[in-house]
Amino acid sequence: MSSAKVLVAGASIAGPALAHWLRRRGAEVTVVERAPELRPGGQAVDARGVAREVIRRMGLDAAVRAARTATAGAYTVDVDGNVLETFRADDDGGDGYIAEIEILRGDLSRVLYDDTRDGVEYLFGDRIAELTQDADGVDVVFEGGDRRRFDLAIGADGLHSALRAMVFGPRERFVRHLGRMLSYYTVPNEFGLDRWLLDYQEPGAGRSAGLRPIQDATRAIAMFSFRAPDLDVDHRDVAAQKRVLRERMTGMGWLTPRILAHLDDTPDFYLDQAAQVVMDRWSSGRVGLIGDAAFSSSPYSGQGTGLALVGAYLLAGELAAAGWDPAAGFAGYERRMRPFVEANQEIGRLHVRSLDGPGPDAGPGPEEWPMDLIDRAINGVELPGYAGVPDSSPVRS
Ligand SMILES: Cc1cc2nc3c(=O)[nH]c(=O)nc-3n(C[C@H](O)[C@H](O)[C@H](O)COP(=O)(O)OP(=O)(O)OC[C@H]3O[C@@H](n4cnc5c(N)ncnc54)[C@H](O)[C@@H]3O)c2cc1C
Repeated sequence: MSSAKVLVAGASIAGPALAHWLRRRGAEVTVVERAPELRPGGQAVDARGVAREVIRRMGLDAAVRAARTATAGAYTVDVDGNVLETFRADDDGGDGYIAEIEILRGDLSRVLYDDTRDGVEYLFGDRIAELTQDADGVDVVFEGGDRRRFDLAIGADGLHSALRAMVFGPRERFVRHLGRMLSYYTVPNEFGLDRWLLDYQEPGAGRSAGLRPIQDATRAIAMFSFRAPDLDVDHRDVAAQKRVLRERMTGMGWLTPRILAHLDDTPDFYLDQAAQVVMDRWSSGRVGLIGDAAFSSSPYSGQGTGLALVGAYLLAGELAAAGWDPAAGFAGYERRMRPFVEANQEIGRLHVRSLDGPGPDAGPGPEEWPMDLIDRAINGVELPGYAGVPDSSPVRS
């Protein structure tokens, strides 16, 4: 087949990035997003090592850099606000704790969407209600009532992927809770933050609170995390999530009470398990998965966005190189991606264990993690040139 009609579910990071590469490789792409419009908000995400190279090949280096946060670095502080440690954005060649390319998830999503909106069909406020596949294609019934046939369908619909549940099995089979919850929301910048992130870890309790400056100097992003191995929340019930956060942060010092006071007036709110998705296969017939839906490494790896960007490049390249044959294309994608995913998932687990001390289960801190593992997590995947495969896009930067 010289081209393919591909349906992608999800328009955050993995979906629009995949749409970019599929279109460049000659496919006709439709992206369906459950939300009524592009979703703003979310924490800062990073692009390190090979993910930076993917952004460059997308021609989006200048656009992404223009939308970056201006974070200069991070201070860890004690309960009275005294600085304990300093991390700078240019540490480790820009690939450190605060990466040189650090951008709010919603801003990166916007850059990727603006880049693809003209050549890709986006359907907002809809979702796949039914999907059946045969040897030659995938029949989809959308919740809005449309029925359409595609050659391939790809789930880029995040940690709680509905397409994964529909085709591969229930969430519990693949989602592994790492034992911590994470929460983020926007607060007024009444804390005098300039370009430095503040991070307070409560000694011995496994709780942390933080504040991150953003470009708009009037606002900041609050960040909380706490140990809760048995806790699950309904990811649609925001009021219940806020109650949980209030309860779990009770008695925590530093600026916590002032930050919690903004829970009811924040314009956005995110709370979820720090979880990984572990699957033996990321495809079944003509249906594949990418991004958090397939291989979430958890925010503790700092690499979920990098995995999504690199996965998009490889999935589109391998499918096109295989003449859009799903078995060969998906096999190539898995073979190239899996070691990279596994290294990042190991980093995510190590990071969580390092926060759980002191105690018998506490793991080593980042300074003791094997250097070769860190290198594999940042650079450990080859990006083939795909010579001979169609490539329609001009390089812009
Ligand atoms: C609003 C939001 C806030 C986030 N905030 C943070 C954060 O603060 N910290 C952090 O580490 N990670 C956060 N994430 C996750 C982070 O974006 C991902 O780890 C990473 O960028 C990989 O992205 P992804 O595209 O694979 O998945 P996601 O970014 O999770 O995107 C999945 C997309 O699929 C859509 N979707 C879900 N179900 C369906 C469906 N049935 N049909 C169609 N579309 C569907 C969602 O609305 C979303 O746009 C957030 C994600 C979102 C959507």
